[in-house]
Amino acid sequence: MNKRKLTLLGSCLMMAVAAWATEKNLNGPDGRLSVTVTDEGGKPAYSVTYGGVPFLMESPLGLETNLGDYTTGMSLAKVSEVEALSDSYYLPNIKQSHVDYRANRQVFTFSKDGKAIYDVEFQVSDNDVAFRYKLYQQGDTRSCVIRREATGFVMPEGTTTFLCPQSGPMGGFARTSPSYETSYTADDAMGKNGWGNGYTFPCLFRNGDQGWTLVSETGTDGGYCGCRLLNVEGGEYAIGFPQEGEMNGLGSVTPGIPLPGMTPWRTVTVGETLAPIVETTVAFDVVKPKYKASQTYAYGKGTWSWIIGMDGSTNYDTQKAYIDFSAAMGYQSLLIDALWDQQIGRERIAELAAYGAKKGVALYLWYNSNGYWNDAPQSPRGIMDNAINRRREMAWMKSVGIRGIKVDFFGGDKQQTMQLYEDILADANDYGILVIFHGCTLPRGWERMYPNYASSEAVLASENLHFSQGSCDAEAFNACLHPFIRNTVGSMDFGGSALNKYYNDKNEPRGSRRVTSDVFALATAVLFQSAVQHFALAPNNLTDAPAWAIDFMKQVPSTWDEVRFIDGYPGRYVILARRSGDRWYVAGVNAQKETLKLKVRLPMLAGADGLKIYRDDKSLNGSVKTLKLNKKQEAEIEIPANGGVVIVR
Ligand code: CA
Repeated sequence: MNKRKLTLLGSCLMMAVAAWATEKNLNGPDGRLSVTVTDEGGKPAYSVTYGGVPFLMESPLGLETNLGDYTTGMSLAKVSEVEALSDSYYLPNIKQSHVDYRANRQVFTFSKDGKAIYDVEFQVSDNDVAFRYKLYQQGDTRSCVIRREATGFVMPEGTTTFLCPQSGPMGGFARTSPSYETSYTADDAMGKNGWGNGYTFPCLFRNGDQGWTLVSETGTDGGYCGCRLLNVEGGEYAIGFPQEGEMNGLGSVTPGIPLPGMTPWRTVTVGETLAPIVETTVAFDVVKPKYKASQTYAYGKGTWSWIIGMDGSTNYDTQKAYIDFSAAMGYQSLLIDALWDQQIGRERIAELAAYGAKKGVALYLWYNSNGYWNDAPQSPRGIMDNAINRRREMAWMKSVGIRGIKVDFFGGDKQQTMQLYEDILADANDYGILVIFHGCTLPRGWERMYPNYASSEAVLASENLHFSQGSCDAEAFNACLHPFIRNTVGSMDFGGSALNKYYNDKNEPRGSRRVTSDVFALATAVLFQSAVQHFALAPNNLTDAPAWAIDFMKQVPSTWDEVRFIDGYPGRYVILARRSGDRWYVAGVNAQKETLKLKVRLPMLAGADGLKIYRDDKSLNGSVKTLKLNKKQEAEIEIPANGGVVIVR
């Protein structure tokens, strides 16, 4: 028998095996994380185990499209060889500047009535499963509408949830929802569906004593809609498309794709501890840059007057004083919020930009995204929603040296809104402008996809601390959730770390009162990751805040090389370590009523001289002392309720 015949026989055997196969395993590189894919009963499905322990039970796969229902009557027709992927990339604006990604990739082709319909492409790394669909062209049909994704996530019995409900459309302030600004419920039972509209990504689950599961999505661009997680029943959750009423009821809730074409990635991160959840880079590992940076973008720290002074503070004199304040802090930028076009005007903005440039302080300008999708009266309006006005404005920005924009009040997650995000980013890159989104959706891998993307809100952010005492009272609780959930998949523009005792420009006893300590404010500057930070500091803090706190806020980095989970429990307390260059920052906060007393091992600080510890006494009065680790590289930490700790090498 010659070689060609042997190969032919081999492929016949493989095809035969494939035809019988109804179940196939794919493991991650270290062999602990395992995905099983099946077509049992004609229904594509997958399950996930870690160290042999079930983390996702048999969960549905499949798509219902305008070309056919591809959730049933399917068979697993072909399984590719396992391909060992390795990729190294540098991304200075996420939690870890250099990432070495290793994963095993396998493609599962499902057919119906003998025709190949779609591939489900899985990439399994040591703690992350990512998968997406690739639909084939059907004859001469080169386009399709996805009516429903069957894609589900079935949690083991006894799982508890840490979820953030999706708000209804056209609600909230000036009919601007949903904008990912609702509050989490921690350690809740399964079987609920938020406020009736499911949950925003990412979604955290505790698999009893076995570990943790984070479900999210990444790679979403203008070619698909942003999705949410719906509860089907009990422990079964499924991908949900946007709500009909978003964008003032206009635009489709169903995404359309060309054929062949792909969906975004669904991601499942699994860990026996919270370390893989905090440290995951999967949101960035599986996406690629969509265009080249037009220039090297400068991240960094800044201030903004609006969080303390609100709309009235957007005037020339206050902004000039804040430029001086940013300069005094050694910060690189100032964010000028809503109404600058009316209360300052473009000519005097140009003057402020020139004044700031002399002091090394660049400007970010706020814009309303609308449009026809909300009633928010704040101006400038009607610029960012169309290419002609937007590009004219960006050319002006470039001419006066504006560093970035903050675009607010988006209309939801429909495909056309996702296209607007992408269009704003792509146009801004043409003019060398960084982009922050507010009142917006979750960023889904955007730090890597769009080189001029800076950060997004998509969280109940610092503005709520100004608006209500209830938010201040829950500040520590929320701060103990974000590092495990919202902030672990993408930059979070929280705008916090206030050192004012009261959220008003006199820092006098009225309005909402900060109940967290100054050390807490310092700790969140480390815990909350965003390469561009605009802190809620005010010029009066130069004289009314402790000198050690101001000094810390001057030198704390906004870009990081590495992150390590030290200890914590979502909603109760969190201690993380972040590295910038050769300096480690260990930061923790406590939301529990009792003082947290812990002995933590900090091997990254071993042998270091002159460690500094910022800590609180029982009355939340902060101080800075020197610290020595014991021989086991341990430190004893005490954090009172609403307090914090920071150890700096
Ligand atoms: Ca907001």
